[in-house]
Amino acid sequence: VRAGDGRGAEQATTGLALVLAVSGLAVTLITDRGRILALEPAAPALVVFVGLVAAFAGAEFVLLHVDLRRQAYSFSLSGIPLLLGALFCDTRSLVLARVGGAALVFAWQRLPLLKTAYNLGAYTLEAALVAWGLHALLGSGAGTTITTAAVSYLVIGVVDLLMSSLVLLVISWHQGRVTPGQATRVAVTAAVLGLFTVLSALAVTELLDDGALGVVLIVGLTVLTGLLYRGYLELRNRHQSLAVMHEFVEQSVGAGSVEELAEVLLTRTRRLLNADAVELTVRRQGTDLLVRIGEDEVFGSAPVDPDRPGNWLLDQVRADGEAVVVARTTREPRLRRWLNSRGVRDALIVPLPAGGLEGVLLVQNRLGEFTTFTDDDLTVLQTLAGHLAVALRGAQLVQQLRHDATHDALTGLANRLLLGERVEEALRADPDRPGRDPAPPAVLLLDLDKFKEVNDALGHHVGDALLQVVGQRIAACVPAGGTVARLGGDEFAVLLPSAGSAPAREATAVAEAVLSALTAPIVLPEAVLSTRASIGIAVGAPAGHATDLLRHADTAMYAAKAVTEGETPVVVYTDELDDGRAERLTLLADLAVALERDEMVLHYQPQMNLRTGAVTSVEALVRWRHPERGLLGPEQFVHLAESSGLIGDLTRQVLRLALRQCRRWSDDGLDLSMAVNLSAHSVHDEGLVDDVIRALAESGLPAARLVMEITESSVMGDPRRTVPVLRRLADVGVTLSLDDFGTGYSSLAYLQHLPVREVKIDKSFVIGLTGPDEAHASSVLVRSILSLGGNLGLRVVAEGVENAEVLELLRGLGCDLAQGYHIARPLPAGEIGRTVRRPARSGDETLSPAAR
Ligand code: C2E
Ligand code: MG
Ligand code: MG
Repeated sequence: VRAGDGRGAEQATTGLALVLAVSGLAVTLITDRGRILALEPAAPALVVFVGLVAAFAGAEFVLLHVDLRRQAYSFSLSGIPLLLGALFCDTRSLVLARVGGAALVFAWQRLPLLKTAYNLGAYTLEAALVAWGLHALLGSGAGTTITTAAVSYLVIGVVDLLMSSLVLLVISWHQGRVTPGQATRVAVTAAVLGLFTVLSALAVTELLDDGALGVVLIVGLTVLTGLLYRGYLELRNRHQSLAVMHEFVEQSVGAGSVEELAEVLLTRTRRLLNADAVELTVRRQGTDLLVRIGEDEVFGSAPVDPDRPGNWLLDQVRADGEAVVVARTTREPRLRRWLNSRGVRDALIVPLPAGGLEGVLLVQNRLGEFTTFTDDDLTVLQTLAGHLAVALRGAQLVQQLRHDATHDALTGLANRLLLGERVEEALRADPDRPGRDPAPPAVLLLDLDKFKEVNDALGHHVGDALLQVVGQRIAACVPAGGTVARLGGDEFAVLLPSAGSAPAREATAVAEAVLSALTAPIVLPEAVLSTRASIGIAVGAPAGHATDLLRHADTAMYAAKAVTEGETPVVVYTDELDDGRAERLTLLADLAVALERDEMVLHYQPQMNLRTGAVTSVEALVRWRHPERGLLGPEQFVHLAESSGLIGDLTRQVLRLALRQCRRWSDDGLDLSMAVNLSAHSVHDEGLVDDVIRALAESGLPAARLVMEITESSVMGDPRRTVPVLRRLADVGVTLSLDDFGTGYSSLAYLQHLPVREVKIDKSFVIGLTGPDEAHASSVLVRSILSLGGNLGLRVVAEGVENAEVLELLRGLGCDLAQGYHIARPLPAGEIGRTVRRPARSGDETLSPAAR
């Protein structure tokens, strides 16, 4: 039989029981039928027999528990009637009384069949062997002498040893190996118990010799011993409870986590109540969690199975707050049904008291077959439950605090602190340690594009919901072992502790997965949003500093933000990028000075009226004549001005320069409209309208000569703030133009609510008009913008006209104005006069080749 092989063990046990019973009966038959001692005064055989049956039943009921040196021993006192019966009775009556008395108790206790069978078989053999041994060694007619005592002790001891060994054998079949320590303990117990049995039995014999007085003495001593024993038990329980409470308190201090603490406390509870399993049901984060420890001391937790039979009783205890004892012998039908439905023999169920963790504690199946849970056990368990609830709640709070300190409250992701720790940890991991993954860690830094606009336009609650979804989507793309963190605002980070043999490639793959996960629309109750993000990647840090790795990722992220549209905004850090960063910083410092030193110059790009072929307006495009770097285009510094708060100054300067130039041309007899670009930041600027009025007044030009170009996204980001500003500009008489039309939100429906008089089709569509592939898509778009413009009474400008073919196409479609390299590149003011004054001839609208 192998341990743990349930069926095998059962069969073996059944077989052994049979063998024991048969050999017991055989020994009974061969044993002398006479009596060893004569009972004096003589009593009728039936009375003796009934007395024996009662004594055996009683011994089976009352198990003595004694603690010796921190070990608990259980004794049965059946040895005393056994020895008395063997001395005073015939063997057959003895065996019958032994088996009969025990069988009565087993039936009453509903002992499982297998155990009943084994015990009865073993008792048969035990009784027969004791009787046989005594008959063989003493013969009938012996007296109560020292020899009798010694022989009795020998026989009782040897038989007890044999029976105990058999029990150990059976236990080893069912539960695995028996240790030498356990075996020794059994042997010692047999020796001590044998001595006690023999002394008690012979004392009884002597007392019986004294007739009535002897009987009184026996009864008196037995009652007294019983009372003393009960007192001892109570003391022992109280001491044990105190010791356990002490350990409970001690162990709950500094326990690692709620789970660890629960494991320790449930294990103690199980051992203390001598039960086969303890289950704790607690509510955590909205679901009921079942934490369980069984006889094998294996700890587990899982969501409560709502279909498990018998849950109703737990629910009831929880709702009423009232504990329940379900004893093995309960006669209440409801409770009996509950026991059957769970396949449990007995149980204690107590609610966790208020003030701690909310839940209910179930202790089931008192170990050992002869006792069941009592009200005393319930009291102990209630005290434990009280402490358990408080201790677990405390641990939970500590865990919560620890969690809060290292996690972002909105998304539940790690925060900057925890990310920093993890990065340090990953960098510290010694690459030379054998068995260690030699790959360096990689960090991805992700920033959402235009998040501020969502927050401003739709409110913070929508922004928050968006961040939560983004956090989940990022987390879903990160392989196990990685850490996802929110660093604040719309900035997220991912740590890949060791990104394989080609870390940059693997990190890039994760970044691309994240980007594609983010492209799927995010459906919120208030809006459907699509997000874009830029991701910077850094791999390893040569000096091993976490701050370096994070700074590098940050630099790469800024580089990713500057990646031209259409390319994947993922950049892996290289040292060159750091140079770029330093460059940007010096450029920023220079910019403030440049605005004071008038280093900004304007170039002007003509716009041609497609009906007349005449240039009627120009767009002012800013350039920076940098003392060292030469002429810089707007793409190189406008975003710097925007991010540093210098954009207001830049806009005012451009406005002044443009209108001043416009006035100069006007004085020269050249009447051109002037288009000026407005950054999104300027559209939010309350002072803008006053600046415009002042600049117009300064130039002495009518407001109708000024066109201001705004982009769709700058308006739609926060319409409540921008629309009033635009209205006031329109009221002043300025023409508003929607630049780069078609690339932003393209909320055509909204267009009619804006005081806009012109749209500029983005150059990407215009250039695409004659391209091979997307020609169709572009032309559909251009046509629809043109027809929309016609319907709404808007002037339509096509920018990016690079050749004659496009120009003709646009003219044919009824476009109003054209702007592009084919007509003229942006030019310094001095060249505009010459270019524009050239008479326009039909069929040759191109301006001088030098101008291109
Ligand atoms: P934008 O307002 O759409 O200006 C048109 C841009 O397209 C100009 O680039 C112009 O040089 C370019 N362009 C013109 N014709 C063609 C063509 O046929 N083909 C191609 N491929 N491109 C053409 P630029 O001057 O580099 O300006 C870039 C952007 O910088 C402008 O785009 C505008 O958004 C911004 N910007 C320029 N000046 C200012 C300014 O004073 N203030 C602000 N806030 N932004 C400005
Ligand atoms: Mg423009
Ligand atoms: Mg444009």
